[in-house]
Amino acid sequence: MATVKLTDAEWRKKLTPEQYRVLREAGTEMPFGPAYDEFQKQGAGTYYCAACGAELFSSKEKFDSHCGWPSFYDPANAKNVVTKKDLSGGMERIEVDCAVCGSHLGHVFEGEGFNTPTDKRFCINGITLKFVPAGGEKPKQPEGAK
Ligand code: FE
Repeated sequence: MATVKLTDAEWRKKLTPEQYRVLREAGTEMPFGPAYDEFQKQGAGTYYCAACGAELFSSKEKFDSHCGWPSFYDPANAKNVVTKKDLSGGMERIEVDCAVCGSHLGHVFEGEGFNTPTDKRFCINGITLKFVPAGGEKPKQPEGAK
């Protein structure tokens, strides 16, 4: 159950229109976009929810899937990530959301044959993530975030 609950107007103020579309309306960013370019250049560090600051993924579990979106084989902080069945678009997929604010992050695919410890691909929209390099300060979270 999400512990960070903002009104629609508050989310619109906090996020860019494109972030709002992806995070709050379960949209998908263009593959191989600017956030993906950035992702490929990033070194060691932690990925936080761009909406609420919850810790989600780590560079330790990132891998190059060549799919055009940031890919991880596992969340670093599993308690902050929830999955649910998504039947939109005539496909059956597993959606990945932030457990703390309920925002949409991406989808997870399993058994694709990637040579990783889990053979899962958490396919995450780059603009839903805030990267903090190792040793950097983690983002402030809104009141009540657990
Ligand atoms: Fe969040």
